[in-house]
Amino acid sequence: NVSRVKVGPATETADLRRRVKEDTHPNKVDLGAGAYRTDEGKPWVLPMVKTVEVQMAADMTLNHEYLPVAGLPAFRTAASALILGKDNPAILENRLEGIQVQGGTGGVRLAAEFLKRNFGSDIVYVSKPTWGNHKTVFIHAGFSQIKEYRYWDAKNLGVDFEGLKEDLQKAQEGACVILHAVAHNPTGNDPTMDQWSQIADIIGARKLFPLFDCAYQGFAGGDLEADAQVVRYFVKRGFELFIAQSFSKNFGLYNERVGNLCIVTKTPDVIPQIRSQMEIIARTMWSTTSHHGARVVATILGNPAYFEEWKAQVATMANRIKEMRQMMFNKLRQKKVPGSWNHILQQIGMFSFTGLTPDQSRVMVEKHHVYMLLNGRINMAGLTTKNVDYVVDAIQDAISS
Ligand code: PLP
Repeated sequence: NVSRVKVGPATETADLRRRVKEDTHPNKVDLGAGAYRTDEGKPWVLPMVKTVEVQMAADMTLNHEYLPVAGLPAFRTAASALILGKDNPAILENRLEGIQVQGGTGGVRLAAEFLKRNFGSDIVYVSKPTWGNHKTVFIHAGFSQIKEYRYWDAKNLGVDFEGLKEDLQKAQEGACVILHAVAHNPTGNDPTMDQWSQIADIIGARKLFPLFDCAYQGFAGGDLEADAQVVRYFVKRGFELFIAQSFSKNFGLYNERVGNLCIVTKTPDVIPQIRSQMEIIARTMWSTTSHHGARVVATILGNPAYFEEWKAQVATMANRIKEMRQMMFNKLRQKKVPGSWNHILQQIGMFSFTGLTPDQSRVMVEKHHVYMLLNGRINMAGLTTKNVDYVVDAIQDAISS
C-alpha cells in the first residue's frame, strides 16, 4: 500500500543544492557541492575531454552496443594502471582485476555487496568524519555494524593519529576498513607516509580488509603519481585490497558515472572467481555500465599526447584551488579574523574543514547565503577572486555572532 510510504531523511548536499538554486540573493556563494568551478564560478568541461567527445561524435564507426558486464576492457586496464603504475607487480603478475562501475559510489557499493556475500564479516570501519555516503552505502548493502575510527582532532585542526591508532587496534578481525587514498573528504587532512606505515601495520595485525576510496587522484597537488603513493605502498606491502576509483572530479565527468573498482590479490588464481562474483552482483544492480565516459577516459589515458594535455588540465584545477587557499588565508589574516587559519593552507584537495561550528556554519548559510556543510566543510573550488572577500567577511561575522 503506497499510502504507507514515508518521506526519508534528506541528504544535506542535495538539500543545499536545491536551496542554492532557489536562492535569488545576488551574492549567494555555493561552497557545498563537491564539484570544480572556474574563477567565473562555472563548471569546466576539460578541453581534452571536449576534443575527444567531438572526435567521437564524428566517428561513424562507433555504435551503442552493450558493453560486457565487467565494462570496457581498455578503460579497466588504463584505469588500474593509472592508480598502480603500469609496471606494478600486481598488474604484471595478473593479480589484479578492474570492474567498470557507476562512479566512485558504484565502486564502494559493489565492494560492499561483494564483501557481504563473500566474506564472513558485515562490519565496516569508517573515519569520523567521512564522506556522507560511506555509511549509508554499507547500511543498504546489509552491513550490520558501521563503526567509526577517530580521525579529526577538532582542537588542533589535524589528524587525531593517536585516536585513529587506538580505535583500529581494537577493530574486529576480518572487518572492512575504508581509507581515503588521498585528499580526505571532508577534512582535507591526510596522514603522513610514516603514519600510513603504522596504519598498515595495524591493519595487517588486525587482519582488516582495506577499501581505498580514491575520488581525488590529481587534486592534492596536481601530481597523479604522488596522489597514488599510499595505495601503491599498501600493494607493495602485500595487502589484498579494493580501490574504488572515481573519474568524476579529475576528468570533470560527474554525470557520466565513470568508475573502476580495482581488486588486488596475492595470487592470480583467485581472479576468475572474484570476477565471476563481481559480474553476478553488477548484473543485478545495473546490468552493464554506460560507454561514453569510459571511452573518453580510455582514449585520453591511452594516448601519450592526450595524457600529457589532460595532466596539465588536472594541474590547472589543483593550482586554482591552491591559489584560492592562499587568497582566503591572506584575507582572513588581513581582516584579523580570530584564529591562525594555517590549516586552510595545510589542507589538501578540494575541501577545507574550516573549523566553523555548526552554529557558525548555519549563520553562513542563513544570514549570508554562503552555502556550506554544517560540519564546517567548504568546497575551495567554489571560491573565486570575486567572492572571496564576501566569504571572508561572512566568516568574520559568523565567528563574532
Ligand atoms: N568518495 C568520496 C570520498 C567522494 O568525495 C565522492 C564524491 O564526492 C565519491 C566517493 C563519489 O564519487 P562519484 O560521484 O564518482 O560517485
